[in-house]
Amino acid sequence: MPAGFVDRQLSQAFCIVFSKGSSVRQQHFPLIQAYHIVIMKGTVFNIRSFSVHDGPGIRLTVFLKGCPLNCFWCHNPESRSPEKEVVKSSQKVGDRCFEVDETIGYEMYASEILERALADKAFFEESGGGITLSGGEPMFQHQFVAEILQLCKKHDIHTALDTSGFAPTQFFEQVLPYTDLFLFDLKLMDDAQHIQHTGESNKLILKNLHHLIDQNKKNNHKNSPHTRCY
Ligand code: SF4
Repeated sequence: MPAGFVDRQLSQAFCIVFSKGSSVRQQHFPLIQAYHIVIMKGTVFNIRSFSVHDGPGIRLTVFLKGCPLNCFWCHNPESRSPEKEVVKSSQKVGDRCFEVDETIGYEMYASEILERALADKAFFEESGGGITLSGGEPMFQHQFVAEILQLCKKHDIHTALDTSGFAPTQFFEQVLPYTDLFLFDLKLMDDAQHIQHTGESNKLILKNLHHLIDQNKKNNHKNSPHTRCY
């Protein structure tokens, strides 16, 4: 079997995970029902349970690190680099203030995020919620995103993707079958202003938005479960 693949037939309760390089990691994944899924690591900078502002119902919001835009209003600048970072922060103890190093970003397997989502599944079902992948720009780690979404759909968890739309169209094609809802954060309609305020043209973003809307129309036409775009 090629490196990077899981053979669940080895055991019902254990998967052998071939990570990058030749090291082998054995891990307990009792809830994964998928066969031959590539187990990937990605870089996360926050996970928020019981979120109610990132899509319908109660949600688990996973913030992924890395964003190719440079919005001047960005309120999560620590999310922009795809790498783990050490930043200085201050902590107050009594009257004294200490400067400490804080690491922003940590690696997780897609299966570990699934486990977090499964722990909240009863709340999702009761409220019509699910998982939302946000950032940064989640499509910056599109393969990791595709794997998380695929795993969640296998477990009937509603999936949402909060995106600026700035990624190659084929990346969206890859996640489309597993995404119930796109929260499409179109920054500015005017291209010159978009360049001025985010550092990039919005041409690709608008192309992706039209593409997703077209896909939704096609799926509606077929009367199949469909992706929505807001
Ligand atoms: S798209 Fe979001 S994360 Fe990226 S720079 Fe703009 S505001 Fe920040």
